[in-house]
Amino acid sequence: MQKTFIATAILTAIAFSTTAAAETPYTISDEPIELTIHMHAKQYPGYQEDWPVEQEARRLTGIHMIDKTSGKNTEDSREAMNLLLATGDIPNIVGGGKVKEFVDQFGPEGAFIPLNDLIDEHAPNIKAFFDKYPERRAAATSADGNLYYIPYLPDGKYGRAYFMRQDWLETLGLEEPQNVDELYKVLTAFRNDDPNGNGKKDEVPFFARQWEEVLRLVTLWDGRSSGSDSYHDFYVDDGSIKHGYAGEGYREGIKNIAQWYSEGLIDAEIFTRGSSSREFLLSENMGGMTHDWFASTSGYNVSLKEKVDGFTFKAFPPPASKAGVRMEEHRRIPVKPDGWAIGHTNEHAVETIKYFDFWFTDTGRNLQNFGVEGDTWTMVDGKAQFTDAVLNADKPVNSQLYSVGAQIQRGYFQDYDYERQWSNSIALEGIELYDQGDYLVEQFLGVAMKPEEQKVFDKYWASIRTYMLERQQAWVLGTGDIEADWDDYVATLKKMGYDEVLEVMQAAYTRQYG
Ligand code: CA
Repeated sequence: MQKTFIATAILTAIAFSTTAAAETPYTISDEPIELTIHMHAKQYPGYQEDWPVEQEARRLTGIHMIDKTSGKNTEDSREAMNLLLATGDIPNIVGGGKVKEFVDQFGPEGAFIPLNDLIDEHAPNIKAFFDKYPERRAAATSADGNLYYIPYLPDGKYGRAYFMRQDWLETLGLEEPQNVDELYKVLTAFRNDDPNGNGKKDEVPFFARQWEEVLRLVTLWDGRSSGSDSYHDFYVDDGSIKHGYAGEGYREGIKNIAQWYSEGLIDAEIFTRGSSSREFLLSENMGGMTHDWFASTSGYNVSLKEKVDGFTFKAFPPPASKAGVRMEEHRRIPVKPDGWAIGHTNEHAVETIKYFDFWFTDTGRNLQNFGVEGDTWTMVDGKAQFTDAVLNADKPVNSQLYSVGAQIQRGYFQDYDYERQWSNSIALEGIELYDQGDYLVEQFLGVAMKPEEQKVFDKYWASIRTYMLERQQAWVLGTGDIEADWDDYVATLKKMGYDEVLEVMQAAYTRQYG
């Protein structure tokens, strides 16, 4: 009785403190409902109640987010969630970067509400989405079969591509390389024949912002470097979980990469130059080829147009491997570990899942992808179109959107059109080229392990991975010989528990994806 009275009193107080908004087609509650939220990500310090997108969502749904983000002074979302856990007080909604791991661990213990039935009964738009993309539902599902979070679901398939200085090819009278042997010849010519014309042997034929991209080249010898958008990840081969760094193609690939490195075809500073290498080597007219993101890499054709005479840096198809396969190993992951979940303290679970569902309606999706209609975009022929002010601003479009509360880590389905509108024509041509060639391969979407599987994985994997990376770097740098070391290497992996790790990964994978 007492409890009911207090609850009623609180509700009444809320009703008085906020003005009831006019009814909309998306109204979930006439009396505004306030829900506390932890929302952590690198790009913003917590959930901001004055975001225009939040204000518009309030008007449309009657649901108000109240910021209760822990760990605002850290950039690390995992750390923020540990701080949240330490408070002993789970907010009504927990969202942001990397929530999956957290909710999969604590959901089964009762900290988060399973969403399966709530979705079936109250979230027709989310349900329709998962019915259409069952693999995405599987990827988001926890080891106990429940869904504990609504993920951020990226749109668009393409991420990285191979880029080459087309004007250098022309200067040297070379054709675009169609296979790994031709690529070797082109990179050698870049090294020796002074394509930048300054009389110095200063060209860096292959470079990368992330040193791990040098490993990508193993695909040219039919090896694998990763099966997902994370480096060094497992990959799926016709239903079997494997790891690239134990395969024959990898052995052959690393042997050849080491050879290329010793001949100066790969940046001598590949492991140390870091994230500014693309900017530096391109603007100094020294870099010849890389493997990097379509949109941002294509952007240099615009930004360096004045500075580097004739600068033309375009995507080209993956050269065919030794076995004749053209493979683009990198692609966008369709399900992020980011999103949001319902805390066990939430007494408005039904309203909350309806609120989550709102972001999957056309209106909610436009709001989250493009911002508030009339502010950042207008409707043109039934589609959201950014205003010229947004497209021509000095600040990148995605940063502008974060600052109004759009494109943040809610559970939502991204609309690739948001990015297409600010990708330049060279990026779009490159994507078209990759689309026609169909170079992408099957993706590993991750697994949710049972506690006993996780235990095995945690016991062995970290040290195996460290060992793999140590050996790999030594081989590329030439301080070890992969041919001589290989049998020992494979035997050591076995000794370190490699087979046990693959076994639990496979069990989890088969359970999750069938
Ligand atoms: Ca030169």
